[in-house]
This record gives sequence, structure tokens and C-alpha cells, in this order.
Amino acid sequence: MTDIFDPTALMRPNIRALVPYSTARDEFSGEGITAWLDANENPFDNGVNRYPDPHQKELKKVVSELFGTPVDTIFIGGAGSDEAIDLLMRVFCVPGKDNIVTISPTYGVYEVSAAINDVEVRPVPLGENFSLPVDALVSAADSNTKLTWVCSPNNPTGNAYSVTELSRLAEKVSGMLVIDEAYVDFSEKGSMLPFIEKFPNVVVLRTLSKARGMASLRLGMAFSHPVVAQAMAMTKYPYNVNGPTQMDVIRRLRETPDISAVVDLLISERKRLEVALPLKAGVKRVYPSDANFLLVEFDDPDTVYDMLLKGGALVRNRNRVPGCKGCLRITVGTPEQNDLLLKLMDEWK
Ligand code: PMP
Repeated sequence: MTDIFDPTALMRPNIRALVPYSTARDEFSGEGITAWLDANENPFDNGVNRYPDPHQKELKKVVSELFGTPVDTIFIGGAGSDEAIDLLMRVFCVPGKDNIVTISPTYGVYEVSAAINDVEVRPVPLGENFSLPVDALVSAADSNTKLTWVCSPNNPTGNAYSVTELSRLAEKVSGMLVIDEAYVDFSEKGSMLPFIEKFPNVVVLRTLSKARGMASLRLGMAFSHPVVAQAMAMTKYPYNVNGPTQMDVIRRLRETPDISAVVDLLISERKRLEVALPLKAGVKRVYPSDANFLLVEFDDPDTVYDMLLKGGALVRNRNRVPGCKGCLRITVGTPEQNDLLLKLMDEWK
């Protein structure tokens, strides 16, 4: 991938030509305002009566420092990384004409978002042991393929792909390569984030919903070539990240930049389940995981699902997902929750 590559050429013509909505606060710069009479807000201060920063400038500074990427490479979504997924479809794919390529099985929102945007999906089955089918992904594409989606670590299979494999794919794909790293904090295989400058066709998705424990705040991020971050910012709703979320996330990221203790605990619990579950009745196989969940194959997954539910443990039934027949996806919980899971698995047969 050379420096000459410009993602703008792949964008929808209407997005390239877009004149974005200018918010009341876009035109403001400088200090000294005592009467905010520009945005038709209620003037009485109740803590949330003012519109938030539409560009999340302070939040982006904190994210930039924490993740080691320049501010102009960052897009922030206020509906989690799901918002970034939808925006990428809207920025790059012409409805009814363009298509995307995805690995299969993978995170379901890519397909749903494509369907909402009337974009064809070309699923490419994973290789043996859920390996990355680099050549098949490349050959599934045609001149209307704008985005290739790889989730690493992959949901629901749990395995991650190495930086070497992902770089090889980035070199070969035509169009953009989106790498969803929602679970990367739990993986030892590394992140593609340090390589977005080397690969201007790569977008890396991250979320605060998993290892960072802020799913309820709905904060997701996309890191990319600045023209992509800028196109996503122009296409988003003007005030897409609400004020309390911006403030809360800034505080939490400043207070707890290092999450290694909780990540280490969850990884050690995952390893405990990886060893214990194969010994339980009805378990056929526990797939290796680089994430905070395990894909487990059972003789009779529906019965086990119901049994766990009755015992108070809800897991995700993936038995009917192509490529995951017989499988339940089990999130690594607290040590006590994992004890309950193992106890239920001991007692059921
Ligand atoms: N990507 C993957 C692979 C996921 O599993 C999820 C959530 N389950 C998301 C993205 C979306 O996360 P959020 O919208 O909470 O950031």
C-alpha cells in the first residue's frame, strides 16, 4: 500500500460532495462568552441544558494520548462501535450497487447494517480451525467491493489473526479493510492500530464496551487515514456523543488508563474455563480463544442452554449460526459466575 492511495476515491460521490451541517458551536472560537444565545437552548443551568461539543475535542485528546494516534485519525461514535460500522457503510457503499466482503461466521451487525443500507454481503467461510482465508477474501471482491470486514479476535469464534496475516490482507484487498478489534485487549496477537499510517486503506475499530467496562456509555472509536475520519465526522449526526458520556469517559480514561489488572484476571479465568469445561458431560470441544468468551461445542447445545438458563446463567446460543453448529458462546464472568457455570455443568447429567 503506497502513500499515493487516497481513500477519498472509494467514497460515495454524494459523500465526497457533501457540505456538512454546521452546528451553532462550529463557528465559535475564543473565550469570554457570558450569554450563550446562539443555539435556542433553555438558558437555565441544570447540568445538561447546553449542547455538547460536536467534535469531542477534549475526549479526542485523551483518546489520542491513550491509544498513541493523532487526533485527526480518530472518529468517536456515541452509539458504540456499531455507529462506526453503519457510518462506514454509508460513507463508502452506494446502495443497490456496491458490496462488502466479510469473513463468516462473524459479528452479525456487519450484515444487518449492510442490509439496512441495501448493500450486498459476500460472506467468505473461515478456513480450517477458523483461519483467515486471505486469498478467498481477495478473490470474492470485484470492482464494486468497497469494504472487506475482518473481526480480530473474531466474534463468535474467539480467535485472533496475527499482524502479519492482516498486513498481508491489507496489501492485497482492493478497497478498504476494516479490522474490528473490539476484543483485542484480551489477545496476545497484537493490534493493527500502529499500522494505520502504513496502510491508508485500513480502518481499525475499537470500543470501550468490553475490556474497559463501559458498555452502557455506548462509546466506540474508529481509527483511520484522516480523510476517512473526516468523512465519518461529516456524515454522523451533529451531536452524536452526549455531554454526560463525554465527561464520564474523559474522567474514567484519565483515572484508569491501565486496565491490565482486570484483563489479566479475565484471561486467567478464561484459561480456567478452557481447562475445566472439556471435562464436563456433553462438551465436545472448547475452541481456543483470544477474547473474553469461549466458543464451546456440545452434543446437545439446546438442552445445555435451557439447563444453564434454569440455573440462572444466560449464554449465547450459536447453534444455528452457519459454521458454529452445536456451539454456545460463553462470556467469561467473575470468578463466582464462572464457578456457578462449572457447578451447573457438573450437576446436569
Ligand atoms: N464489534 C464486535 C466484534 C462486537 O462483538 C461488538 C458487540 N458485541 C461490537 C463491535 C459493538 O460494540 P459497541 O457497539 O458496544 O461498541
